[in-house]
Amino acid sequence: MNFKASKPPHKVDIKVAMASKKIMLISRRENKHLKTLLIMIINKEMAAQSRETRQKKIIEEEVEKEKSFFTSDSLFSKIKAREKNIGIATVYRFLKDLRAKGKIHTYLCDKKILYSKGEPNHCHFICEKCNKSRHIKLSRLDFIKKEIKEDICHFQLDVYGICESCKEKINKREN
Ligand SMILES: [Zn+2]
Ligand SMILES: [Zn+2]
Ligand SMILES: [Zn+2]
Repeated sequence: MNFKASKPPHKVDIKVAMASKKIMLISRRENKHLKTLLIMIINKEMAAQSRETRQKKIIEEEVEKEKSFFTSDSLFSKIKAREKNIGIATVYRFLKDLRAKGKIHTYLCDKKILYSKGEPNHCHFICEKCNKSRHIKLSRLDFIKKEIKEDICHFQLDVYGICESCKEKINKREN
């Protein structure tokens, strides 16, 4: 009987420690491929990391420039002008992170979310007759601090009533 001589196995002389702490035996040739693959993975990882760092820095700088209230959309367009390959999800993630750290406040204004670094409140006066609303600025927070024992971060207030122009119209009609 003729037996085909089987190919000699690759020289198995390299031990690779696996994540599972098991030792894997691989050949020299496989080792070379593995090394190339690892270098490729590491390079890709490093490129992704440096891109992330660069993008984070741009977002940080743009948030820093905001002096009052801003929306994620307006912030995103400023960031996008500097960094084309950035997605809104990255910006949202960053803002969420800042919010969790207490570095920015969020408010609801006309069904939109507003962000702010330093504004401790966001208040509206809403007319019940004409439905127009305007922003009011409250600089003194003593009145709210008297009522609330917890540490206050920021607050939002909607005050309802009759606006100046509606009041004038009513007065004219009455006279
Ligand atoms: Zn806050
Ligand atoms: Zn508002
Ligand atoms: Zn009004």
